[in-house]
Amino acid sequence: MKGVLNKVLKIDLTAGTCSSEEVPDKVYEYFLGGAGMAAYYMWKECPAGTTAFNPANRLTFAAGSLNGVAQSGAGKWSAGAISPVFNLNSDSAATASFGIAMKQAGFDAVVTYGRSDKPVYVVVDDGRAEIKPAGDIWGTDAYQAEDSIHAREGDDYEIVTIGQAGERGVRFANIQTRKKSFLGRCGLGAVMGSKMLKGVAVRGKKQLDYHDAEEIKRLNTQINKRVLEIDKDKPEWLQIKKVGTALATELFAPQGNLPLKNYSLADWPEGVEAWHASNYHKELQVTPWPCKFCVIQCHNKAHVTEGPYAYEGKGPEYESFAMMGFNTLCKDVKAISYACELANLYSMDTISLGVIIAFAMECYEKGLITKEDTYGIDLTWGNDEGVVEFTKKIGMRADGLGYLLGEGTKIAAEALGRGAMDWAVQMKGQEIAAHNWRAQYISALNYCTGVASGPNHERGNSQHIWVGHIRLPEWGIDEVENEERWSWENAGDRNAKFHDYCNVINSVGHCKFQEFRGYTLTDLTNSINAATGLNWDLDDLRRSGERITTLQKILNIRYGWKKADDFAYPKRFMEPVTEGPAAGKIPVGLDNAILEYYGIRGWDSDGKPTPELIQRLGMEDYTD
Ligand code: SF4
Repeated sequence: MKGVLNKVLKIDLTAGTCSSEEVPDKVYEYFLGGAGMAAYYMWKECPAGTTAFNPANRLTFAAGSLNGVAQSGAGKWSAGAISPVFNLNSDSAATASFGIAMKQAGFDAVVTYGRSDKPVYVVVDDGRAEIKPAGDIWGTDAYQAEDSIHAREGDDYEIVTIGQAGERGVRFANIQTRKKSFLGRCGLGAVMGSKMLKGVAVRGKKQLDYHDAEEIKRLNTQINKRVLEIDKDKPEWLQIKKVGTALATELFAPQGNLPLKNYSLADWPEGVEAWHASNYHKELQVTPWPCKFCVIQCHNKAHVTEGPYAYEGKGPEYESFAMMGFNTLCKDVKAISYACELANLYSMDTISLGVIIAFAMECYEKGLITKEDTYGIDLTWGNDEGVVEFTKKIGMRADGLGYLLGEGTKIAAEALGRGAMDWAVQMKGQEIAAHNWRAQYISALNYCTGVASGPNHERGNSQHIWVGHIRLPEWGIDEVENEERWSWENAGDRNAKFHDYCNVINSVGHCKFQEFRGYTLTDLTNSINAATGLNWDLDDLRRSGERITTLQKILNIRYGWKKADDFAYPKRFMEPVTEGPAAGKIPVGLDNAILEYYGIRGWDSDGKPTPELIQRLGMEDYTD
């Protein structure tokens, strides 16, 4: 098969050895690469009984068959492991150029396992790999670690690193690359830290070989032009190149989709004004900072030159400032953006962090914790400085409350007791992201049934049918009525299609934001065919998504998933707000919708794949 190298690098951190192995074409035909490849290696090598911090856990960095193609969005790549947040299968995706460089170094994936007895980093240089000591960079933040590895090995490496939070086992620690993109969710940074692995650096000169180079060129020209043009007639503050995903504030506020005050409030006009894209642009002085080949350019760089929150670095994305700002009722754009950048340095997921700080604020309001617990920090709603200071306490694992909150909302709520679980907005241990189920019920269904990475807004982003106006017409999701956002009719089918679609995208190595700009399933199929020679149609594309979803489900069952987990959604899901566009809306009927979803997927009433499904997908070799 073209577009891939059929070769994977294995790093045994216990033995301190590096080796490589061949991967047959069939694995790529079934699971594509990226998230699918990470799941495949867990299935192949990681037995039942393994937990996140066990050396047997596989942390796999994997590129997709589209990585290297000069198409807008084709820089995305993934990593996967058993998550320390919910101890099941998980994956997370990042952009920048690490996946492309990994292939240029000669490997489709790097599988790390075992545990080193001292800090190390891995260097992969044009087909050769070496494990090197990292004792002197252990303890530094994630950006300093990247700088140190660059200084030692050369500026032309693409590098992933963790900061202090990853080293010290904050359960929602992330992994960064290029100081701008993050394997954000599921705590993969803590898995990396548990292996004493501070960084991985890759570079190479391998020319990538695709099935039909001329067709790829034609597709790239046509797609990149179309994707680029879609913003041109939009108002300035809805143009992504200008403000990144900050445009979401203007889109989501009128729908009631924002997370406000630990998801307990309907509306917050002054906050919406403060976080309006025009103010975001003015306060942070952002400039585009795109990933390789991308014409959309949602990533931006902030330039805050004065004041206590001066910094130059990542301009926060919607999910980051929504959880750290809206959810805590903080409206100082510079302070919250600075807190987000601190989280990046320590290597923490800003979605989970924002939920946890809001949870702590509610505990403070209700008297479960006091200034004696908070190091004297005032944790009242809207205290921007409190968010900054608590980011430091959690990131550095300060003794006491900072440490406890680094365990995640579920463990913290269990420890605090006294009803705290009632306002812990988490499922299976993972905090809920910045899409409000009251604005469209389908996100609640997605959070409950996701198998790729627990409850995750981007591993089955069906909420975007309404909140982002995404359709998948080639798979039968076309125009919808606005009122359908509060209906279960067709929700199971739509949710399943979006789960499979996200799995294909995260496995082939493409960025979902292109779809907001008119990139279609047909574009995706044509691009896969031109790169690989697979000659798929749209049904083959769906089947591929189904296979990846099914493999993830098999893994979750192996690692201990129980049906009851899908029904243990946060109490707040069923608490209505009294004002605003989603007033009175709660996802009543969710339990039935989950069961319906099982049936639509070809799972039995216990949520397990049926023999008929396994047979239809040709996956008899992949069952446990
Ligand atoms: S849309 Fe954003 S995240 Fe996606 S490739 Fe472009 S700059 Fe990167």
